[in-house]
Amino acid sequence: MSESCPIYFDHGATSWPKPQEVLDAVASALTECGGNPGRGVHALGLAASRMIFGARTDLAAFLGVADSRDLIFTSGCTAGTNLMLKGLLRPGDRVVVSSMEHNAIARPLNVLAAAGVTVDVVDADETGLIDADRMEAAVKAKPTAAVVCQHASNVTGTIQPVGDLADIAHSAGAVMLVDGAQGAGHLRLDLGVLGADAYAVSGHKGMLGPQGVGALYLSPGIDPVQLVEGGTGGGSSESPTQPQSRPDRYEAGTPNTPGIGGLGAATRFLAVHAEDQRAEEARLARRLAEELSAIRGIRVIGAAPSEPRVPIVSVVHERMPADQLAFALDRRYGIAVRAGLHCAPWAHRTLGTLETGAVRFGIGFGNTDDDVDAAVAAVDEIVSEAR
Ligand code: PMP
Repeated sequence: MSESCPIYFDHGATSWPKPQEVLDAVASALTECGGNPGRGVHALGLAASRMIFGARTDLAAFLGVADSRDLIFTSGCTAGTNLMLKGLLRPGDRVVVSSMEHNAIARPLNVLAAAGVTVDVVDADETGLIDADRMEAAVKAKPTAAVVCQHASNVTGTIQPVGDLADIAHSAGAVMLVDGAQGAGHLRLDLGVLGADAYAVSGHKGMLGPQGVGALYLSPGIDPVQLVEGGTGGGSSESPTQPQSRPDRYEAGTPNTPGIGGLGAATRFLAVHAEDQRAEEARLARRLAEELSAIRGIRVIGAAPSEPRVPIVSVVHERMPADQLAFALDRRYGIAVRAGLHCAPWAHRTLGTLETGAVRFGIGFGNTDDDVDAAVAAVDEIVSEAR
């Protein structure tokens, strides 16, 4: 192992390495598809347009979206959560949100709260699971415009009952807005039936695409106000304002063609390999959780190791600070993990780990049993020395 080739357990932050097909597609977007899409009749521009059309169509099929125009390309999940929250919510609206949310939800909601949106946070249980009954009681207590939650936790890997929460939201006349950063790729999705009115996807995590790209699904009839206006490659003679048709309304400016091309290739890769990959990730995550939790002084936070999860396993040690353990794993063993609060202070407060943080192992494409063996042995050795 060398510094350039670590044992990589930071897939929760971003997946690495990317499939070769993704690298090739990024290069192709800058070479044979290197024109500006939707903005020229020459061959390079048309090739770029075709590449984007193909990526959108393939991603829609993979996510269970019937009309690919309901899928907006974004710069990532964060751009999607900002668009769905700031584009839909108005002063006077009330939002019910879980206490497990990432800053991609919490921070825009804090801004909206300052502007007059009521934000009611409902505590998840101590394992990080959002309790549908508690959410339902909160939703029914007062008129509610939106229920907002994640599909899976980036801290504990907990898979949330999004379908049930969507039913609760809809029966109260509210919309269901979902942060799918840790869902897409890791969970089989059928957005046409899940019940989310908007679902924000990260392109660079479980989807295996490059950084700087993502997508936002908007169900038909959910029309947030666009946050950015500008060129779309057409319509200039018809109207001085932003076209209202999808996806142009939400995609002003030159798109991230290398990112979108890479995400398209990643989607086609996953269409073939996702089922096997998910089974393997789940198996490795369970092994890692069980074996780490058997080390004296180590506790796996969230649900029991045997419970289903997206492939994230976070641990705390009874005395050793999380960053010390992560630093030793990296410097002594070449094992890449993520320590701290994972941009999710609400979640850590819920789990009782706001003061300590945790060490997160994010499992994904490329991880093996040997990696798990190495991680367990390294953690054991580091914490044994501290006894
Ligand atoms: N939500 C969750 C739960 C996440 O884990 C992340 C990434 N850490 C995000 C949102 C933001 O995703 P992106 O990097 O694509 O903006």
